[in-house]
Amino acid sequence: MVKTIIQRLRDEYEIIGYPRLVRLNPNVPWKTRGNGALSLRVGKKGDTAKQKIGEINGAEVRSSASFTQELDDNQRNDIFQTTREILEQQARVEDENTNPGLVIMTTPPARTIYENAVTRIVTLDEILGTLQHHHAWFEGYKNKRGLIGATAAIAWTPMDRTFEVIAYRQKENWGTKRNVDPTSVKTMDEQTPSTFDNYDHRNNHNRITPNSPCPILFGIRGDNTQDLIIATTMIQSEPVDSWLVFESNQGTDDHLRPSPVSRVQPYASVIIEGKVADNPTTIQGGHVLFTLNDGTGTIPCAAYEPTKEFRRIIRGLYTGDLIEVYGGVREQPLTVNLEKINIKHLTNILVKTENPVCPLCGKHMNSKGTGQGYKCMTCKTTSNQPLVKPLPRSLTPGFYEVPVCARRHLSKPLKRMLVSQKTAMTTGTAGTPR
Ligand SMILES: [Zn+2]
Repeated sequence: MVKTIIQRLRDEYEIIGYPRLVRLNPNVPWKTRGNGALSLRVGKKGDTAKQKIGEINGAEVRSSASFTQELDDNQRNDIFQTTREILEQQARVEDENTNPGLVIMTTPPARTIYENAVTRIVTLDEILGTLQHHHAWFEGYKNKRGLIGATAAIAWTPMDRTFEVIAYRQKENWGTKRNVDPTSVKTMDEQTPSTFDNYDHRNNHNRITPNSPCPILFGIRGDNTQDLIIATTMIQSEPVDSWLVFESNQGTDDHLRPSPVSRVQPYASVIIEGKVADNPTTIQGGHVLFTLNDGTGTIPCAAYEPTKEFRRIIRGLYTGDLIEVYGGVREQPLTVNLEKINIKHLTNILVKTENPVCPLCGKHMNSKGTGQGYKCMTCKTTSNQPLVKPLPRSLTPGFYEVPVCARRHLSKPLKRMLVSQKTAMTTGTAGTPR
């Protein structure tokens, strides 16, 4: 849809920066696929330096790095009518979860609108107030909840950000099975370290192609736009009709907020530090559960079956381990759906090796029965302490994440976390290269 909008607007207007693909609260119960919204900045035609952001029908799409001049009301109205027409033609309104919204604003609303929409449930009333206050042009369809996403996408000013290059299918192929060679995706993934979440090598899952019947052929995510453009040429596939680079909050962990257990709300996404309160158990369906205690309360944490080998890590935890959990909160019962964990300290678990040795005769004592202690039959000395040794642990402290096949759009891959830590150490600033 953004592709059509850019196609229609680019002759008369300047595209500013990259179009934006903004993911919002992944835990909303009425979730549309991926809960995403798109935004685009548009200004008057000008002669500022331009960068290539895509190709549509063989022609380059270039955008300006900054505004030259604001639009006047007639131009805004023109853009509003054009985008509304495209939205009404292209939105799949027959899908009960599709509730489109269109918003045009001269100045973006406060960033808190975005922060709220990515971390909690925002009401339509909150957004309508903002839209009126900012004299926005807007049109909401069906239950109008699309206005929330649209406004939040405008309110997003990147602190951390990534990019996604999206390649579109030729119209004659829409609705047919996508032809994308998985081997070329694997190769691209291995040879382009600044990209992420392309391919799950262990579970053989190609993550770059969508499953929905949309016109997208594939999307590659990464930190470097030039690498992404090169990466598209490495994919062997059916013909690519057009492609565009989007700026995005995917892979940033923007949805997560530190929270004590006592204040955890359903549908939020949290970071909680606490101790494992019981040994993990595997329940029917292969889901692994344990309880976390942070001193303010206890909450169940779950690694569900689709998180595959991540469950092996969770099964390796023991009561007393100090960990930090990252995940979305399910309602009823309130449960943290784990996205990753940081193991901070593994508790020392002692296991009995032998009965205690008698200090007088040097022989092993005998057990007096379960929980009754030990006694030397010769000297009559007693002890409650058997000989012990530390239990070897299968885990080491550090971060562990769910595999690519189970990763959420907003989850920051460890690959990116390690890069920003490294950047912080070498240059003193955390962040992503342009
Ligand atoms: Zn003895």
